Amino acid sequence: MTIGTGLSRRHLLRAASALAITPALAQARVCVAPPDAGRVTKAVNDAHARFAGLTEGKNADYIPYLAGVPSALFGVAASEPDGAVAEAGDVGYALAIESIAKVFTLALVLRESGPEAVQQKLGTNATGLPFNSVMGVELNHGKPISPLVNAGAMATVSLVQAASPEERWNKIIGNMSRFAGRTLTVNEEVYKSEADTNEHNRGIAMLLKSYGFMYTDPMEACDIYTRECSIAVTTHDLAVMAGTLANGGINPVTKEAVIDPALVPPVLSQMAIEGLYENTGDWMFTVGLPAKSGVGGGLIAVAPGVLGLAAFSPPLDAAGNSVRAQKAVQSVVQALGLNIYAG
Ligand code: GLN
Repeated sequence: MTIGTGLSRRHLLRAASALAITPALAQARVCVAPPDAGRVTKAVNDAHARFAGLTEGKNADYIPYLAGVPSALFGVAASEPDGAVAEAGDVGYALAIESIAKVFTLALVLRESGPEAVQQKLGTNATGLPFNSVMGVELNHGKPISPLVNAGAMATVSLVQAASPEERWNKIIGNMSRFAGRTLTVNEEVYKSEADTNEHNRGIAMLLKSYGFMYTDPMEACDIYTRECSIAVTTHDLAVMAGTLANGGINPVTKEAVIDPALVPPVLSQMAIEGLYENTGDWMFTVGLPAKSGVGGGLIAVAPGVLGLAAFSPPLDAAGNSVRAQKAVQSVVQALGLNIYAG
Protein backbone atom coordinates (compact mmCIF):
# COMPACT_ATOMS: atom_id res chain seq x y z
CA MET A 1 0.00 0.00 0.00
CA THR A 2 1.20 3.52 -0.77
CA ILE A 3 1.19 5.70 2.30
CA GLY A 4 1.33 9.43 2.88
CA THR A 5 3.83 10.98 0.49
CA GLY A 6 3.76 8.11 -1.97
CA LEU A 7 6.42 6.08 -0.18
CA SER A 8 5.68 2.41 0.31
CA ARG A 9 5.12 1.03 3.79
CA ARG A 10 8.46 -0.83 3.46
CA HIS A 11 10.31 2.42 2.71
CA LEU A 12 8.76 4.14 5.71
CA LEU A 13 9.61 1.29 8.02
CA ARG A 14 13.19 1.36 6.78
CA ALA A 15 13.34 5.12 7.30
CA ALA A 16 11.89 4.65 10.78
CA SER A 17 14.55 2.15 11.78
CA ALA A 18 17.29 4.49 10.45
CA LEU A 19 15.91 7.19 12.74
CA ALA A 20 15.68 4.68 15.61
CA ILE A 21 11.94 5.11 16.06
CA THR A 22 9.80 2.02 16.36
CA PRO A 23 7.93 0.79 13.29
CA ALA A 24 4.67 0.98 15.25
CA LEU A 25 5.25 4.65 15.99
CA ALA A 26 6.18 5.35 12.39
CA GLN A 27 2.95 3.77 11.20
CA ALA A 28 0.85 5.56 13.80
CA ARG A 29 2.14 8.92 12.55
CA VAL A 30 1.40 8.27 8.89
CA CYS A 31 -2.00 8.89 7.32
CA VAL A 32 -2.98 6.10 4.94
CA ALA A 33 -3.80 7.66 1.57
CA PRO A 34 -6.09 5.95 -0.94
CA PRO A 35 -4.26 3.57 -3.28
CA ASP A 36 -3.43 5.27 -6.57
CA ALA A 37 -6.03 5.04 -9.32
CA GLY A 38 -3.97 2.69 -11.48
CA ARG A 39 -3.80 0.08 -8.72
CA VAL A 40 -7.54 0.35 -8.07
CA THR A 41 -8.33 -0.12 -11.76
CA LYS A 42 -6.03 -3.11 -11.95
CA ALA A 43 -7.50 -4.71 -8.82
CA VAL A 44 -11.05 -4.28 -10.18
CA ASN A 45 -10.14 -5.66 -13.62
CA ASP A 46 -8.24 -8.58 -12.10
CA ALA A 47 -11.15 -9.45 -9.78
CA HIS A 48 -13.52 -9.48 -12.73
CA ALA A 49 -11.22 -11.57 -14.91
CA ARG A 50 -10.48 -14.02 -12.08
CA PHE A 51 -14.11 -14.92 -11.37
CA ALA A 52 -15.71 -14.37 -14.78
CA GLY A 53 -16.00 -18.14 -15.25
CA LEU A 54 -17.41 -18.98 -11.81
CA THR A 55 -20.93 -20.38 -12.03
CA GLU A 56 -21.52 -21.48 -8.42
CA GLY A 57 -24.73 -20.49 -6.66
CA LYS A 58 -28.36 -20.08 -7.69
CA ASN A 59 -30.55 -17.04 -8.43
CA ALA A 60 -33.11 -16.19 -5.74
CA ASP A 61 -36.41 -17.73 -6.86
CA TYR A 62 -38.78 -16.94 -4.00
CA ILE A 63 -39.22 -13.60 -5.79
CA PRO A 64 -40.22 -14.85 -9.27
CA TYR A 65 -38.70 -11.89 -11.17
CA LEU A 66 -35.24 -12.55 -9.74
CA ALA A 67 -35.23 -16.15 -10.97
CA GLY A 68 -35.31 -14.82 -14.55
CA VAL A 69 -32.39 -12.38 -14.30
CA PRO A 70 -29.52 -13.71 -16.48
CA SER A 71 -27.15 -15.56 -14.13
CA ALA A 72 -24.10 -14.73 -16.24
CA LEU A 73 -24.26 -10.99 -15.42
CA PHE A 74 -21.21 -9.89 -13.46
CA GLY A 75 -19.94 -6.42 -12.61
CA VAL A 76 -17.32 -5.00 -10.25
CA ALA A 77 -16.76 -1.33 -9.35
CA ALA A 78 -14.79 0.82 -6.91
CA SER A 79 -15.57 4.44 -6.08
CA GLU A 80 -12.60 6.63 -5.23
CA PRO A 81 -12.73 9.77 -3.04
CA ASP A 82 -12.03 12.09 -6.00
CA GLY A 83 -15.20 10.89 -7.77
CA ALA A 84 -13.52 8.45 -10.16
CA VAL A 85 -15.13 5.00 -10.45
CA ALA A 86 -13.06 2.04 -11.63
CA GLU A 87 -15.29 -0.59 -13.19
CA ALA A 88 -15.32 -3.89 -15.06
CA GLY A 89 -18.07 -6.03 -16.60
CA ASP A 90 -21.82 -5.43 -16.46
CA VAL A 91 -21.69 -2.34 -14.27
CA GLY A 92 -24.54 -0.58 -16.14
CA TYR A 93 -27.14 -3.34 -15.68
CA ALA A 94 -30.08 -2.20 -13.53
CA LEU A 95 -30.44 -4.74 -10.71
CA ALA A 96 -32.90 -4.77 -7.81
CA ILE A 97 -31.20 -3.22 -4.79
CA GLU A 98 -33.08 -5.53 -2.37
CA SER A 99 -31.59 -5.66 1.14
CA ILE A 100 -28.82 -3.17 0.37
CA ALA A 101 -31.59 -0.55 0.69
CA LYS A 102 -31.75 -1.32 4.42
CA VAL A 103 -28.40 0.40 4.99
CA PHE A 104 -29.51 3.73 3.56
CA THR A 105 -32.88 3.87 5.28
CA LEU A 106 -31.08 3.14 8.53
CA ALA A 107 -28.87 6.17 7.78
CA LEU A 108 -32.00 8.27 7.22
CA VAL A 109 -33.56 7.21 10.52
CA LEU A 110 -30.28 7.80 12.35
CA ARG A 111 -30.26 11.32 10.94
CA GLU A 112 -33.89 11.99 11.87
CA SER A 113 -34.17 10.28 15.24
CA GLY A 114 -30.60 9.68 16.43
CA PRO A 115 -28.65 6.61 17.57
CA GLU A 116 -30.48 6.18 20.88
CA ALA A 117 -33.87 5.79 19.22
CA VAL A 118 -32.34 3.25 16.82
CA GLN A 119 -30.95 1.21 19.72
CA GLN A 120 -34.15 1.28 21.72
CA LYS A 121 -36.73 0.90 18.98
CA LEU A 122 -34.89 -1.39 16.56
CA GLY A 123 -31.81 -2.83 18.28
CA THR A 124 -28.22 -2.86 17.04
CA ASN A 125 -27.03 -6.41 17.63
CA ALA A 126 -26.44 -9.41 15.42
CA THR A 127 -29.25 -11.94 15.07
CA GLY A 128 -27.07 -14.77 13.73
CA LEU A 129 -30.18 -15.89 11.86
CA PRO A 130 -31.46 -15.81 8.27
CA PHE A 131 -32.70 -12.42 7.01
CA ASN A 132 -36.37 -13.37 7.11
CA SER A 133 -36.37 -15.16 10.46
CA VAL A 134 -39.54 -15.10 12.53
CA MET A 135 -37.74 -16.94 15.31
CA GLY A 136 -35.36 -13.98 15.62
CA VAL A 137 -38.33 -11.79 16.52
CA GLU A 138 -39.84 -14.33 18.91
CA LEU A 139 -36.54 -14.99 20.70
CA ASN A 140 -36.22 -11.29 21.50
CA HIS A 141 -39.75 -10.58 22.72
CA GLY A 142 -40.64 -8.83 19.50
CA LYS A 143 -37.62 -6.56 19.22
CA PRO A 144 -36.19 -6.79 15.70
CA ILE A 145 -32.58 -6.63 17.09
CA SER A 146 -31.00 -5.55 13.79
CA PRO A 147 -32.08 -2.91 11.24
CA LEU A 148 -30.48 -5.05 8.52
CA VAL A 149 -32.83 -8.05 8.70
CA ASN A 150 -36.33 -7.92 7.22
CA ALA A 151 -38.07 -7.39 10.58
CA GLY A 152 -35.73 -4.57 11.56
CA ALA A 153 -35.82 -3.01 8.11
CA MET A 154 -39.64 -2.84 8.10
CA ALA A 155 -39.55 -1.29 11.58
CA THR A 156 -36.89 1.14 10.29
CA VAL A 157 -39.19 2.20 7.45
CA SER A 158 -41.98 2.72 9.98
CA LEU A 159 -39.74 5.09 11.98
CA VAL A 160 -39.17 7.49 9.07
CA GLN A 161 -40.96 10.65 10.18
CA ALA A 162 -43.82 11.42 7.81
CA ALA A 163 -47.43 12.51 7.84
CA SER A 164 -48.40 10.18 4.98
CA PRO A 165 -47.14 7.05 3.18
CA GLU A 166 -46.27 9.24 0.18
CA GLU A 167 -44.12 11.53 2.27
CA ARG A 168 -42.40 8.51 3.88
CA TRP A 169 -41.68 6.96 0.49
CA ASN A 170 -40.44 10.22 -1.03
CA LYS A 171 -38.01 10.66 1.85
CA ILE A 172 -36.71 7.11 1.45
CA ILE A 173 -36.12 7.21 -2.30
CA GLY A 174 -34.90 10.82 -2.12
CA ASN A 175 -32.31 9.84 0.49
CA MET A 176 -31.17 6.83 -1.52
CA SER A 177 -30.89 8.99 -4.65
CA ARG A 178 -28.60 11.42 -2.83
CA PHE A 179 -26.33 8.54 -1.86
CA ALA A 180 -26.24 7.43 -5.52
CA GLY A 181 -25.88 10.96 -6.88
CA ARG A 182 -28.77 10.59 -9.31
CA THR A 183 -32.56 10.18 -9.25
CA LEU A 184 -33.35 6.52 -8.62
CA THR A 185 -36.63 4.86 -9.57
CA VAL A 186 -38.47 1.62 -8.77
CA ASN A 187 -38.44 -1.31 -11.18
CA GLU A 188 -42.23 -1.79 -11.19
CA GLU A 189 -41.95 -5.37 -12.45
CA VAL A 190 -39.75 -6.30 -9.49
CA TYR A 191 -42.13 -4.51 -7.13
CA LYS A 192 -45.15 -6.37 -8.49
CA SER A 193 -43.40 -9.72 -8.38
CA GLU A 194 -42.32 -9.12 -4.81
CA ALA A 195 -45.59 -7.58 -3.59
CA ASP A 196 -47.55 -10.53 -5.01
CA THR A 197 -45.45 -13.03 -3.04
CA ASN A 198 -44.47 -11.27 0.22
CA GLU A 199 -46.84 -13.03 2.63
CA HIS A 200 -43.92 -13.95 4.88
CA ASN A 201 -42.82 -10.34 5.28
CA ARG A 202 -46.42 -9.27 5.89
CA GLY A 203 -46.57 -11.88 8.65
CA ILE A 204 -43.40 -10.47 10.23
CA ALA A 205 -44.79 -6.91 10.04
CA MET A 206 -47.95 -7.98 11.88
CA LEU A 207 -45.91 -9.85 14.48
CA LEU A 208 -43.83 -6.73 15.16
CA LYS A 209 -47.02 -4.72 15.56
CA SER A 210 -48.35 -7.22 18.09
CA TYR A 211 -45.21 -6.76 20.19
CA GLY A 212 -45.16 -2.95 19.94
CA PHE A 213 -42.11 -2.68 17.67
CA MET A 214 -43.89 -1.36 14.57
CA TYR A 215 -44.34 2.40 14.51
CA THR A 216 -46.88 2.89 11.74
CA ASP A 217 -49.47 0.74 9.97
CA PRO A 218 -47.68 -2.63 9.47
CA MET A 219 -49.01 -3.23 5.96
CA GLU A 220 -47.93 0.26 4.92
CA ALA A 221 -44.44 -0.35 6.32
CA CYS A 222 -44.23 -3.72 4.56
CA ASP A 223 -45.36 -2.17 1.28
CA ILE A 224 -42.85 0.68 1.45
CA TYR A 225 -40.12 -1.78 2.44
CA THR A 226 -41.04 -3.90 -0.61
CA ARG A 227 -40.81 -0.77 -2.77
CA GLU A 228 -37.40 0.20 -1.45
CA CYS A 229 -36.14 -3.33 -2.20
CA SER A 230 -37.40 -2.89 -5.79
CA ILE A 231 -35.36 0.24 -6.50
CA ALA A 232 -33.25 -0.23 -9.63
CA VAL A 233 -29.53 0.50 -9.28
CA THR A 234 -26.46 -0.27 -11.32
CA THR A 235 -23.22 -1.65 -9.90
CA HIS A 236 -21.78 1.80 -10.64
CA ASP A 237 -24.53 3.38 -8.45
CA LEU A 238 -23.83 0.90 -5.66
CA ALA A 239 -20.12 1.76 -5.72
CA VAL A 240 -20.93 5.48 -5.39
CA MET A 241 -23.39 4.75 -2.56
CA ALA A 242 -20.71 2.76 -0.75
CA GLY A 243 -18.22 5.48 -1.68
CA THR A 244 -20.39 8.07 0.08
CA LEU A 245 -20.14 6.02 3.27
CA ALA A 246 -16.39 5.58 2.73
CA ASN A 247 -16.05 9.33 2.23
CA GLY A 248 -17.51 10.42 5.59
CA GLY A 249 -21.03 10.86 4.21
CA ILE A 250 -20.02 13.15 1.32
CA ASN A 251 -20.96 11.82 -2.10
CA PRO A 252 -17.60 11.64 -3.92
CA VAL A 253 -19.21 12.50 -7.27
CA THR A 254 -21.75 15.25 -6.41
CA LYS A 255 -19.84 16.40 -3.28
CA GLU A 256 -23.17 16.66 -1.43
CA ALA A 257 -23.01 15.99 2.33
CA VAL A 258 -25.64 13.26 2.49
CA ILE A 259 -25.14 12.18 6.10
CA ASP A 260 -23.33 13.66 9.10
CA PRO A 261 -19.85 12.04 9.35
CA ALA A 262 -20.63 11.12 12.98
CA LEU A 263 -23.42 8.83 11.75
CA VAL A 264 -21.25 6.85 9.36
CA PRO A 265 -19.60 4.64 12.04
CA PRO A 266 -22.93 3.47 13.50
CA VAL A 267 -24.12 2.53 10.00
CA LEU A 268 -20.89 0.66 9.23
CA SER A 269 -21.05 -1.12 12.60
CA GLN A 270 -24.35 -2.69 11.57
CA MET A 271 -22.95 -3.80 8.22
CA ALA A 272 -19.98 -5.35 10.05
CA ILE A 273 -22.18 -7.46 12.32
CA GLU A 274 -25.21 -8.31 10.14
CA GLY A 275 -24.42 -7.31 6.55
CA LEU A 276 -24.25 -10.87 5.23
CA TYR A 277 -26.72 -12.28 7.78
CA GLU A 278 -25.70 -15.54 9.41
CA ASN A 279 -22.48 -15.57 7.35
CA THR A 280 -21.31 -12.14 8.50
CA GLY A 281 -18.75 -13.58 10.92
CA ASP A 282 -17.19 -15.66 8.14
CA TRP A 283 -17.11 -12.58 5.91
CA MET A 284 -15.41 -10.39 8.52
CA PHE A 285 -13.01 -13.24 9.34
CA THR A 286 -11.88 -13.64 5.74
CA VAL A 287 -12.37 -10.16 4.21
CA GLY A 288 -12.60 -7.67 7.05
CA LEU A 289 -14.72 -4.85 5.61
CA PRO A 290 -18.26 -3.77 6.55
CA ALA A 291 -20.49 -4.97 3.73
CA LYS A 292 -24.12 -5.53 2.75
CA SER A 293 -25.67 -7.97 0.33
CA GLY A 294 -29.02 -8.15 -1.45
CA VAL A 295 -30.84 -11.14 -2.97
CA GLY A 296 -30.77 -9.32 -6.32
CA GLY A 297 -27.08 -10.30 -6.40
CA GLY A 298 -25.62 -6.95 -5.34
CA LEU A 299 -22.97 -6.46 -2.66
CA ILE A 300 -21.39 -3.28 -1.28
CA ALA A 301 -18.35 -2.97 0.98
CA VAL A 302 -16.83 0.10 2.59
CA ALA A 303 -13.14 0.77 3.26
CA PRO A 304 -13.51 3.85 5.49
CA GLY A 305 -11.67 6.87 4.10
CA VAL A 306 -10.39 4.86 1.17
CA LEU A 307 -12.86 3.25 -1.24
CA GLY A 308 -16.47 2.20 -1.78
CA LEU A 309 -16.70 -1.21 -3.44
CA ALA A 310 -19.56 -2.93 -5.23
CA ALA A 311 -20.06 -6.14 -7.15
CA PHE A 312 -23.06 -7.82 -8.74
CA SER A 313 -23.84 -11.33 -9.92
CA PRO A 314 -27.25 -13.00 -9.42
CA PRO A 315 -26.34 -16.54 -8.23
CA LEU A 316 -26.46 -16.70 -4.42
CA ASP A 317 -25.16 -18.95 -1.66
CA ALA A 318 -27.48 -20.57 0.88
CA ALA A 319 -27.59 -17.43 3.07
CA GLY A 320 -28.67 -15.23 0.14
CA ASN A 321 -25.32 -13.60 -0.64
CA SER A 322 -23.97 -13.41 -4.21
CA VAL A 323 -21.19 -15.97 -4.63
CA ARG A 324 -19.24 -14.13 -7.31
CA ALA A 325 -19.74 -10.68 -5.78
CA GLN A 326 -18.25 -11.92 -2.51
CA LYS A 327 -15.24 -13.41 -4.30
CA ALA A 328 -14.70 -10.31 -6.43
CA VAL A 329 -14.85 -7.90 -3.48
CA GLN A 330 -12.56 -10.14 -1.46
CA SER A 331 -10.09 -10.16 -4.34
CA VAL A 332 -10.03 -6.31 -4.52
CA VAL A 333 -9.70 -6.03 -0.74
CA GLN A 334 -6.75 -8.41 -0.70
CA ALA A 335 -5.03 -6.82 -3.70
CA LEU A 336 -5.20 -3.36 -2.13
CA GLY A 337 -4.70 -4.41 1.51
CA LEU A 338 -8.01 -2.92 2.70
CA ASN A 339 -8.90 -5.24 5.61
CA ILE A 340 -9.77 -2.80 8.43
CA TYR A 341 -8.29 -5.08 11.06
CA ALA A 342 -4.89 -5.02 9.36
CA GLY A 343 -4.32 -1.43 10.47
N1 GLN B 1 -36.91 -8.01 -0.52
C1 GLN B 1 -36.21 -9.14 -0.04
C2 GLN B 1 -37.00 -9.81 1.06
O1 GLN B 1 -37.68 -9.14 1.78
C3 GLN B 1 -34.87 -8.70 0.45
C4 GLN B 1 -34.06 -9.80 1.10
C5 GLN B 1 -32.59 -9.70 0.86
O2 GLN B 1 -32.11 -9.04 -0.06
N2 GLN B 1 -31.83 -10.41 1.65
O3 GLN B 1 -36.98 -10.99 1.22
